[in-house]
Amino acid sequence: MKVSSLVILGPQGSGKDTQAELLGKKFGLIVIGAGNELREIAKTDTKLGKKVNQTINVEGRLVEPELIVEVIENRLSKISLDQSIVVHGFPRSLRQYELMKDSWTRLDRQNYKVIFIDLPEEEALKRIAGRRRVDDHPEALKKRFELFNSETMPVVKQLENEKKLIRIDGSPSIEKVHEEIVKKLGFK
Ligand code: AMP
Repeated sequence: MKVSSLVILGPQGSGKDTQAELLGKKFGLIVIGAGNELREIAKTDTKLGKKVNQTINVEGRLVEPELIVEVIENRLSKISLDQSIVVHGFPRSLRQYELMKDSWTRLDRQNYKVIFIDLPEEEALKRIAGRRRVDDHPEALKKRFELFNSETMPVVKQLENEKKLIRIDGSPSIEKVHEEIVKKLGFK
């Protein structure tokens, strides 16, 4: 496998975090979760921490595009370019995608691939029922699906038009989905 910069997108419950972790473990990629980064910031007793906590855990909204782009850029700038990485849950809106293009060009990570794990909402909801997170209350879940459809799906469509998207059916087992991703990426 050559050095890679990967992005994994998918609705909540699609298994994007799990798939990123599997790729990380098997192929030595550093895994960066947009939501995980923000949850860490939300725990800090700072002005920014309180603001992020309010946005993600109370209101279930997306943080400002400039903020998440900067958070990801900060992480990536500390990682050597000969290290493969996989980022999940980012970019989540067209504005983030625009900012990301500039940011990842500055970082010299412009040759990224994007995997989209496709899963119907009904199936995703069944899976979420099995996990426990502070932001998994019904109101926030509903809001996140709405946000995914209105904000993130346009990114998916744009990436598809740009022929940059690798679409994966997320309904089979974790192992099967993983195999499919590895195959489509051409990893050995
Ligand atoms: P996740 O763990 O990916 O489900 O993210 C949890 C929460 O963090 C989301 O519901 C958003 O409020 C926030 N979040 C995660 N990724 C992003 C992003 N790319 N842009 C803005 N907010 C985000």
